[in-house]
Amino acid sequence: MGGVGSPACSQLRSRPCLLPQKHWPPGTQCITKHDHSKPKTHQLAFRKGDIVTITALCEEKGWYRAKHNETGEEGLLSASSVREREAIRIDPTLSLMPWFHGKISGVEAVQALQPPEDGLFLVRESIRHPGDYVLCVSFGKEVIHYRVVYEENRLSIDATVSFYNLIDMIEHYMKDQGAICTKLVKPKPKPGTKSAEQELAKAGWLLNLQHLMLGDKIGEGEFGAVLQGEYMGQKVAVKNIKCDVTAQAFLAETTAMTKVRHKNLVRLLGVILHNGLYIVMEFMAKGNLVNFLRTRGRSVVQAKQLIQFALDISQGMDYLESKKLVHRDLAARNILVSEENVAKVSDFGLAKVDLKGTDISKLPVKWTAPEALKHNKFSTKSDVWSYGILLWEVFSYGRAPYPKMTLKEVAELVEKGHRMEAPEECPPFIYALMKSCWETEPGKRPSFKKITEKLQKQLKHIGGS
Ligand code: ADP
Ligand code: MG
Repeated sequence: MGGVGSPACSQLRSRPCLLPQKHWPPGTQCITKHDHSKPKTHQLAFRKGDIVTITALCEEKGWYRAKHNETGEEGLLSASSVREREAIRIDPTLSLMPWFHGKISGVEAVQALQPPEDGLFLVRESIRHPGDYVLCVSFGKEVIHYRVVYEENRLSIDATVSFYNLIDMIEHYMKDQGAICTKLVKPKPKPGTKSAEQELAKAGWLLNLQHLMLGDKIGEGEFGAVLQGEYMGQKVAVKNIKCDVTAQAFLAETTAMTKVRHKNLVRLLGVILHNGLYIVMEFMAKGNLVNFLRTRGRSVVQAKQLIQFALDISQGMDYLESKKLVHRDLAARNILVSEENVAKVSDFGLAKVDLKGTDISKLPVKWTAPEALKHNKFSTKSDVWSYGILLWEVFSYGRAPYPKMTLKEVAELVEKGHRMEAPEECPPFIYALMKSCWETEPGKRPSFKKITEKLQKQLKHIGGS
């Protein structure tokens, strides 16, 4: 079968200038523009608004092989019958739990569920027992209130089934009536909120759980495990965020990821609302850059490769800047390496959180620019500072910056003008670059564009020698 690795595709990938205008690499999710109910042989059938995944570019111009996300069928379709899915606009009213009304009374819940409709539901926080939840369900002209008991980190209505979070609980009772009066049918959204699930589905970012196969655990994030997996034949990494409040916070990170597409940024394939939240990303076979460098070391990884990594990262960051996104947690641990040794920036984790609410104690002090540390002034220029620290990590093969110094010492000494020494055998121009990233005055630091140009020039130099 002409799959992802077919000769036609790999050839095309290495000759980007010959590509047709619309070039969608395998894994791209597209939305169909019209019905195509009577497909010819080998063609894919679809209805307007269906989501399909591109699996390969065909040799015949303007055609793709694609897989239908619902049916799982594979076939050909013309480029003109699909459009790429849209970025999700950052919208604070977008909610993973639009049915969660917060602290309202039982009487208010009954009013909210008018007119009666079997299976119409909402969840509220109990006023009398703060911290407890109540599931309110409309059934036969009445509203029934189920107390949700929180015990040993689990939520439960009837003690036979329990859940990590409200999202899972609602998902369960929408499929299975269990011990309650009716299956949940329709969420009653809290006024002023929009269902993230619906918006994600409409824009084409909601993936189908049935097509996801989960494998081994490959990492542990701050908020949950990262698993290897496969989605429609493509290797993926899946971050699972189980806590519903954290999942809601991650929605912002995820919406930021829908806006970007660049060879040096880890690509978001989509999300699934299950077990809290699954964030499905492209799989980066060689893991994070710190481990990559530590486990291989100087004898395996040459300086030229390090410069190439530095260039990859600055290109990704230059693009991020063009999209007006500030990363805020740029560090080698958040750079991932692909099978082909391409470095990509990941973890737009802090790329959004409300600036004023930043908890200083949670900042990665050794990577954070002084003006960001002291006055919360995050900008692309503070990302450039972090990039300088990252360069130091890279050229020291994954050492922790400011060796043997405490966070307090670092903050104080840096403020006084102290900077790290060059790593062992670090090319002088790289050390000069690092130092320029560590200018106290943010305006004096180079832009990612400038950094990119410098590195490209040096690489050419080395390549030619
Ligand atoms: P967090 O920032 O929430 O702590 P990360 O996103 O950094 O978590 O992920 C933790 C680890 O999981 C990474 O260091 C890396 O080893 C692994 N990992 C994360 N995303 C991927 C991916 N797309 N491909 C391969 N490994 C990944
Ligand atoms: Mg991380």
